[in-house]
Amino acid sequence: MNTERMRSLGEKRSVIRELFEYGNKRKAEIGKENVFDFSIGNPSVPAPKELTEELCRILTEESPLATHGYTSAPGDFAARKAVADDLNARFNTSFGPEHLYMTCGAAASLTISLSALVKDGEEVVLFAPFFPEYTVFVETAGGKPVAVPCKWPDFQIDFDKLAEALNEKTAAVIINSPNNPSGAVFSEESIKKLGETLSAAEEKFGRKIYLISDEPYRELVYGGIKVPFVTDYYNDTIICYSWSKSLSLPGERIGYILVSPENSDWKTAYAGICGAGRALGFVCAPALFQHAIPKCVSMTSDISVYEKNRDLLYGALTGMGFEAVHPDGAFYLFVKSPEPDANAFSEKAKKYEILFVPSDDFGMEGFVRISYCVSTEQIERSLPAFKKLAEEYF
Ligand code: PLP
Repeated sequence: MNTERMRSLGEKRSVIRELFEYGNKRKAEIGKENVFDFSIGNPSVPAPKELTEELCRILTEESPLATHGYTSAPGDFAARKAVADDLNARFNTSFGPEHLYMTCGAAASLTISLSALVKDGEEVVLFAPFFPEYTVFVETAGGKPVAVPCKWPDFQIDFDKLAEALNEKTAAVIINSPNNPSGAVFSEESIKKLGETLSAAEEKFGRKIYLISDEPYRELVYGGIKVPFVTDYYNDTIICYSWSKSLSLPGERIGYILVSPENSDWKTAYAGICGAGRALGFVCAPALFQHAIPKCVSMTSDISVYEKNRDLLYGALTGMGFEAVHPDGAFYLFVKSPEPDANAFSEKAKKYEILFVPSDDFGMEGFVRISYCVSTEQIERSLPAFKKLAEEYF
């Protein structure tokens, strides 16, 4: 491990965390209700009450030793079976528990998958804008991130740019749809073409190229939009899932990796994932939440609140003159900065106690991310402040 790099990662907080801490400081100074904090993706809708009841039941009725004991390293069999059954019922697939590995959330799913599948010096394609931690995760696995910008204004894949990025060193391509920070959902056409492009690249470069689909927002889509299920379109697929957002459990650290059985080498990839989980010291995913999964696997929190927030914020901000990507999913609004430097725009917003994140760390300049997983009432209260901010530009 590069100790210098670890130290500098620890010393330099992410821009999102930095703003979040600034927001907490301002809230203490001028009152919570006077700060419009749109910095972080912490769900504001509580986990379903059935989940709370199930946790209480497990804690009071089940054996404490079984409840809190280690599970097997890939995860409790009942949890993996429940996930496989749920996916099979929803997506007409044929997964089994042997294709699943339970993890401490999507971040762990990604670090484990990248460590297992990327060799030192190999490249990993990221579609920009992307979740900033991807570069940290890829580099820690010894890989080199290669950013490929998506197309404005729909933020679908730019296949010419993707073709330029793929080469004999490409080990993996990460997608995240619904996307943080753009809210865009890759269409079926994009995913189909992506599958074809990667199959052709595997042929051309004579190597495996994994499609790592990071899906913490899979269920968070609005207006009847469908998220194509990627294993239907490309065989060498790994899904990194998490219940952080769909069940509002980001602090509990629970998710999974699915290795598609359509991959001719899936057993080798799965063994690598078990090995990486072991080498990284994860031991097993949180046992209590694994035990609750069979009951709650098909539930979500009340995501209708996010759809209402999306409509309110998108309508209000575009009405004031801002340009934004229309978000079909996740809970972020990606707004074009009305001045070239998004950092200056974000600083100006602070004058009105509005906190949003400049896009530079998402691998794309000139935008800001507004996280709308807040109360609808916060959005309503923030609109006069947004109006004053808009008046500085339009
Ligand atoms: N991937 C994306 C795109 C995210 O937005 C996040 C969290 O915000 C993660 C991964 C990490 O999620 P988790 O909390 O499940 O580790």
